[in-house]
Amino acid sequence: MHQSSKSSRSESAVSVIGAGIAGAWQALLFAQAGHAVTLHERSDATLTQSTSHWAGGMLAPYCEAEVSEPVIVRLGLRSLDLWRENLPETPFNGSLVVAHPRDRSDFERFARLTTGHRRLDAQALARIEPSLEDRFREALFYPDEGHVEPRRVLPQLHARIRAAGGTVQFNSEATPEDCDGIVIDCRGLFARDTQPELRGVKGEMILVETAEVELSRPVRLMHPRWPLYVIPRADHLFMLGATSLESEATGVSLRSALELLSAAYTVHPAFAEARVVEFGSGLRPAFPDHLPRIAIDKERIAVNGLYRHGFLLAPALAELTLSYVERGTIDNEVMQCA
Ligand SMILES: Cc1cc2nc3c(=O)[nH]c(=O)nc-3n(C[C@H](O)[C@H](O)[C@H](O)COP(=O)(O)OP(=O)(O)OC[C@H]3O[C@@H](n4cnc5c(N)ncnc54)[C@H](O)[C@@H]3O)c2cc1C
Repeated sequence: MHQSSKSSRSESAVSVIGAGIAGAWQALLFAQAGHAVTLHERSDATLTQSTSHWAGGMLAPYCEAEVSEPVIVRLGLRSLDLWRENLPETPFNGSLVVAHPRDRSDFERFARLTTGHRRLDAQALARIEPSLEDRFREALFYPDEGHVEPRRVLPQLHARIRAAGGTVQFNSEATPEDCDGIVIDCRGLFARDTQPELRGVKGEMILVETAEVELSRPVRLMHPRWPLYVIPRADHLFMLGATSLESEATGVSLRSALELLSAAYTVHPAFAEARVVEFGSGLRPAFPDHLPRIAIDKERIAVNGLYRHGFLLAPALAELTLSYVERGTIDNEVMQCA
């Protein structure tokens, strides 16, 4: 990091475009810092057109180290602190990684490539997740990881923005040219007019309901193609996710549905009787290098490319943007100045 010659400023008018997880965190930190923030969202408060609506909401920097660059882990760890500080009710129950005997080598590889975990034998696993008794011989437990429920936490963030003095406007389509003052463009995949290298990476999910299984934390199951996980939600719901496909099609394919549902069934056979509540998919906004980017052009700042880490990275990216606006601080790993 270094300080640029940008003069310090405070309490400027700030327009944030896009109320998904990236924009929500930007608006929150700027409003809390005393800026006059307006958050524009083109859709209504249900945000069903946003990628964030479909996400798992795992805050898992240690597990992501298996496939991600160190900058993701660095920013992810900082984000955990910001989630804890700003939304203390965020559940930090950790997360689990399990494997069936045939995937033992993948399990060991995952253990080698990640830190922040301890090994649990079958008895220790059953103590923290009684529903998983006799299901797996061993598990990796990442005690410092957390998870949020996107469809609950986004409204909470929007309420916090208002409580901090900001304005949240739904059904308010905006472009960076429409807005005065500092503009923070968080339009996700809709920003391809100004960031044409963005692409969508499809992620499919299924929501099921059962009272026969209880979990306190996300459980990842080793899988040869993508990380399959079961995430507990309120009201006996579980999210099964998520595929990662080079496609911008919508919907869930039969193949993906079979894989996601079979994975849940092998985590616990009681999922066979679960009620399927929803099939859905979202497009993760990604740059070619799969890294997030804060692109700065004078008073226009674009925060995008959060790919599969939006919930994990949004708080830290908002902190970096605020630090740039207030003190001119540049983080060379994620910031690009015109
Ligand atoms: C199945 C799945 C599972 C995932 N699981 C996880 C996970 O466990 N953990 C994690 O960290 N990440 C996860 N992700 C990734 C995460 O969802 C994305 O990184 C994140 O949602 C991207 O957020 P965003 O705010 O950049 O984009 P979006 O959520 O798409 O938000 C952009 C917003 O901008 C609005 N907008 C667009 N144009 C305009 C305009 N002109 N005016 C006003 N508003 C506009 C849109 O309506 C939208 O609400 C997952 C993604 C998928 C698909």
